[in-house]
Amino acid sequence: MTFFKKKKNKTESTQKHWSITRECLNLILECAKTEYPNEFGGFLHVDTDEKNTITEIVILPGTISGDHHAIFRMHMLPIDFSNVGTVHSHPSHSNRPSNADLQLFQKYGKVHIISANPFNEFSWQAYNHKGEEIAMKII
Ligand code: ZN
Repeated sequence: MTFFKKKKNKTESTQKHWSITRECLNLILECAKTEYPNEFGGFLHVDTDEKNTITEIVILPGTISGDHHAIFRMHMLPIDFSNVGTVHSHPSHSNRPSNADLQLFQKYGKVHIISANPFNEFSWQAYNHKGEEIAMKII
């Protein structure tokens, strides 16, 4: 007799499978390159029909003009629930979230993208609100 039953992996069934359009990803990489050596920051928007597909980014005003701390601007904005998450660039080669990033991730949305130098298809990573790496499909 056993008291341990195998449970279905809860996180598996409740976790959303996120996608991003190639067009949107290209725009993120383009913005990151343009802003380098500064950071760029923005919000991720989903298609209204395909709720798990990121189709649009809204770039924060003010991050364009030599602001080194895009992340702190995001902290100052009111919460808008039409945003599913955030995106920002790291001028460094690390796409790991900083402590400030983790605080932001918890505050806004469900999915977050960090694009690190050299801002190509292999140097970005998606995270959930806890700062854990998640898979994101490019469609
Ligand atoms: Zn960061």
